Amino acid sequence: INLIPERERIKMLNFKEVKAELNTPKKIVIIPHKTPDADALGSSLGLRGYLIKKGHHVQVISPTDYPKFLNWMEGNETVRIYNSDHNKECSRKIENADIVFCLDFNNLARIDELGLLVEKSAAKKFLIDHHLDPTCFADFSLISTDASATAELIYEFIVKMGDRELIDKPIAECLYAGIMTDTGQFKHNNTHQNVHYVTANLMELGADTPRVASLIYDTNSYDRLKFLGFALSQRLKYLPEYHTAYIAINADDLEKFNSKTGDTEGLVNYALSLDGVVLGVLISERGGEIKLSMRSKGDFSVNEFARKHFNGGGHKNAAGGSSDVSFEETVSSFEEIIKTYKEELNQIADAYK
Ligand code: 5GP
Ligand code: MN
Repeated sequence: INLIPERERIKMLNFKEVKAELNTPKKIVIIPHKTPDADALGSSLGLRGYLIKKGHHVQVISPTDYPKFLNWMEGNETVRIYNSDHNKECSRKIENADIVFCLDFNNLARIDELGLLVEKSAAKKFLIDHHLDPTCFADFSLISTDASATAELIYEFIVKMGDRELIDKPIAECLYAGIMTDTGQFKHNNTHQNVHYVTANLMELGADTPRVASLIYDTNSYDRLKFLGFALSQRLKYLPEYHTAYIAINADDLEKFNSKTGDTEGLVNYALSLDGVVLGVLISERGGEIKLSMRSKGDFSVNEFARKHFNGGGHKNAAGGSSDVSFEETVSSFEEIIKTYKEELNQIADAYK
């Protein structure tokens, strides 16, 4: 049986053309969004595994570093991180590439300086993504906002290329990691029928799903667990009249707990898990940047909220953004902005009872 619905996205890519492009060995660069998560990195390394089997020369370049709990993915040790010691090598590879794949983002601003290099490169650009409101910078786009994860689209891409049998255990596990995390372990409302269908296929192709879950969720450091306790007991703020809860973590907090990239991941979900809360936000200050991570329930669109107030975007119920003013000013302006949404938040919370 083939349950994969012929959605709009399949029509967007002309597979005849894509097959012709990938028919002969090419120099390919794959780029995930900055601070890649399991979906961005898993999609990149999963696609890398596949393209190598097709005989291509592949380099994954990440705009920044990423959490240690992703280091188990096959090919991790080959990833080049721009912004570390590899800027020249990365620039050269992007400049000389035949093809650049952009995965799990839809706007070149999401890859910082690499955006300019990609724009300038003569390479053909492929975009595979599931975020709302894409910008059009690619020659080939495989976009579906109803895909749970970019990894789900990568699976479909490989299948449509006629190469399902090239998906081995390491590739299947990279893709499974993206789907498992972007669906909140199959809990969010993006967990449609096709997610389980693709997952079943990845299991058949060798993905050891409990192993992947354990590698991602059960590898906390002692410092990180202590930090979680601190964040919940000291930094969680509940605004019941706005059905909102937020956690604000400044640079000192992170330093005190020796926090690493990725240690704040998942924190925002605790804010949203409070009974009655329909908007959960994490405000964090890391490396001189102030970043907001947002989650919502029901019809409150954090994509629009992030776009309007914090220079960001994402999905309806999961989005992010950043702020140019100080940490304290960001927190107080967030509290002010939220007041203007009182009625909307109350209506959504009522509908959720
Ligand atoms: P997270 O809160 O987990 O970092 O991100 C949630 C979702 O929003 C992800 O799909 C992510 O790609 C997107 N997102 C996070 N930060 C930003 C941002 O600054 N700009 C845009 N456009 N999207 C973001
Ligand atoms: Mn994703």
